[in-house]
Amino acid sequence: RGNTSPHFSIAVFEGDGIGPEIMAPTIKLLRAVAKASGAFTLDFKVAPAGAAHFRDHGVSLPGASLETARQSDAILLSAMGLPEVRYPDGTEISPQIELRMELGLFAGVRPVLIHPGQGSPLKVAERKGFDFVIIRESTEGLFASHGKGKVHGDASAEETLVITRDVSEKLFEFAFNLARRRKETGKGPGKVHCVDKANVFQAFAFFRKIFHEVAARHTDIAAETAYVDATALWMVQRPEMFDVMVTENMFGDILSDLGAGIMGSLGLAPSADIGSDNAVFQPCHGSAPDIAGKGLANPLAMILSASMMLEWLGHEHGVSEMLEASEGVTTAVNDVISEGRVMTPDLGGDASTEAVADAVLDAFDKRL
Ligand code: ATP
Ligand code: MG
Repeated sequence: RGNTSPHFSIAVFEGDGIGPEIMAPTIKLLRAVAKASGAFTLDFKVAPAGAAHFRDHGVSLPGASLETARQSDAILLSAMGLPEVRYPDGTEISPQIELRMELGLFAGVRPVLIHPGQGSPLKVAERKGFDFVIIRESTEGLFASHGKGKVHGDASAEETLVITRDVSEKLFEFAFNLARRRKETGKGPGKVHCVDKANVFQAFAFFRKIFHEVAARHTDIAAETAYVDATALWMVQRPEMFDVMVTENMFGDILSDLGAGIMGSLGLAPSADIGSDNAVFQPCHGSAPDIAGKGLANPLAMILSASMMLEWLGHEHGVSEMLEASEGVTTAVNDVISEGRVMTPDLGGDASTEAVADAVLDAFDKRL
């Protein structure tokens, strides 16, 4: 584009509950960060979707919103779903699952770490610290059955778990490449754990077989395997042993909540769902309808998700200033947490969503 700086179009799903409350200050922060950098520009296109949209218009992910997502360079999503709004089959409104499937976002990335100065419910972990990443396959596994489950009268019910070679290969490639990047940047030793249940299920033995095939192409990274049950135990007893963990959809769903649990707050856990040519960035937490509309929601997981978006865009498009901007945002969040002065109630403070977001922006400015 000649001498103009790279430009990225961001699709914004504000969603339900606290969704819009944490999205607004995040976009404000991103605008300020882009302006401060001067090396890239962002524009934001709001895409309506979610439970309230389903209640009012009968559709949870409108075609136009899906199109906005498809045409974007990256997607920011806060949270969707409300307990009292359901699809006719009784399941929760979950357009985020549809988005993952439609856009082929196979790699769900969930960083699990203790921020400096932030305690963990795990006493051992608090002393040693931990920093690992869970990669949850996000398009198949048990979730391939989503919307296709069968209930046979009152007698039985079934769902089917699917593992494909194609997606598994891409997933493991992604895991090894991430482990290498973490090694190069000093974040990890360069190790990938394949987490499965290969001792009981053929589908997981297949998953593990493909893991070893891909591992053979990445001999600079240690390839380890672990059963999911043992992994749950080790995440509590010695989480410092993990670097990159890669697993099936349902297992990853459960382990990433456990990850949020050992981090101490769901309000601090970001995530990304990454595919071959697009990605969704969203906090691990839900729409928290119990605190919606009160200005009490912690915006940090949303802000950290936006930071992951900057990192991913910078990496994909070779814009090093975006990597720096991402680093700057994450550092600013860490500054606010370790200072411990401006915190929302979930972290023991009494500050508002906006005050916390502003504190992050101040910390970001101070570091410039
Ligand atoms: P979902 O099914 O969408 O994951 P959920 O049932 O797991 O939703 P959440 O919406 O994540 O539930 O909320 C779980 C609890 O955590 C609630 O008490 C909620 O208020 C709290 N919580 C979630 N996100 C935040 C946040 N950003 N700030 C403060 N508290 C939060
Ligand atoms: Mg949940």
